[in-house]
Parts: sequence; C-alpha cells; structure tokens
Amino acid sequence: MINVIIMGAHGTGKGTQSKRLAANPHFKSENGTGFVHISTGELLRAEMADNTELGQHITETMNKGEYVSDAIASSMVMNKTHLHGGYKADGFIFDGFPRTEEQVTFLDRVITSFKAEINIVLNIVVDGKILLERIMERGAKENRPEDQDKKLVIKRMKTYAAESAPVLNTYRERGLVVDIDGVGTEEEVYERILNAITGE
Ligand code: AMP
Repeated sequence: MINVIIMGAHGTGKGTQSKRLAANPHFKSENGTGFVHISTGELLRAEMADNTELGQHITETMNKGEYVSDAIASSMVMNKTHLHGGYKADGFIFDGFPRTEEQVTFLDRVITSFKAEINIVLNIVVDGKILLERIMERGAKENRPEDQDKKLVIKRMKTYAAESAPVLNTYRERGLVVDIDGVGTEEEVYERILNAITGE
C-alpha cells in the first residue's frame, strides 16, 4: 500500500494531478483499486449538493469562509477509505486533508490501523506571482468571479500559506515532504510527481 498526501495552494493543479495518479494503471494491483483519490473539498461539495442537514451546515460554514470541523472532515475521510476497501486498497491520495494538527493525528491513526504508513507528502510549489496570473487568467476564461478579484485571490493565497505551514512542518520534521516544482505544463509536473513517488 502506498499513501500519498498532496499539498499546494488553490490553483497549483493538485486536483488534476491527483486524478491522473488515480487513473494510472502502474499503481494498480491485479483486481485492485489503484490509487483512490480522496478530496475533502469534493466530498464536502457533494454533501452540499445533496442538501442534507449536514450539507446545509457545511454550506453555512463555507459561506463564512471557515473550515468545517475536524470531526466532519475526518469522518468523511474515514468513510471514504472504508468504502474503498480500507487496508485492502492499493493506496490513497489525500487531497485537502489533513489541514490541521488534529487531522494529522486522526490520519496517523487511520493509516496505522491499515498497518501502513504515509509514504510521501508532495508539496506543489508555484511562485506567488505566477500563481496569481494563472488564477486570474483561469477566472476570466471560466468566468469564476471568486478567481477574478485580485485582492481576494491574494488573501486566499496568504491564508493558505499561514494555515498549511504547521501541517507541512510536521511532515517535514518526519522527512516525508518532497517539494515539487509546479511551474510547467501539466505533463511536466506529472513527470516530476511520478519520479518523486517511484524514487527516481
Ligand atoms: P478545497 O476544495 O480543498 O479548497 O476545499 C474547499 C473548502 O472546503 C475549504 O475552504 C474548507 O472550508 C472546506 N474543507 C476542505 N477540506 C477541509 C478539511 N480537511 N478540513 C476542514 N475544512 C475543509
């Protein structure tokens, strides 16, 4: 089992890269799952779309620009890992999780229960100026208002840097972090990620 955590600010392409990893047959055992991509953001949005009581609570929380509770995020991750066979899966890609120290501890417990470990933490790095250009360009092309307001985009980038720092440091201390240069084509970045995972 190989377990990967993928980190990076909004716009670094970590969702796209995670999906490519999940589709890569190289990581799939016979009749196995391959990498299972777990994005807490996607899971939360699916819950919101279902408009359940929990979904409505999540919508209110996100509209305030806040994180959902560790309990909600963690239980979603737990359910999803078990849905995909738990310890029997070929591996998981955790995208958008963990975001807090409490979630780090929770994930440790889940992975230990699988008698496995976190093998690598990919940190996709894109220079702030380039990231800003990239997000604004996409915002205009895809008509996403939240990605066209320069001040808001900068604020979000700063928030991410401040909030992800403790989690990133924890994994750096464990020697698990590999910084991936996120500047280049999608293909180039994917190659770098593959090399990091396979140790080439
Ligand atoms: P993302 O798509 O990863 O940017 O997530 C969108 C939003 O979902 C975030 O701004 C948070 O409000 C919430 N969220 C996603 N993952 C987590 C998490 N691990 N813990 C708490 N809130 C989260």
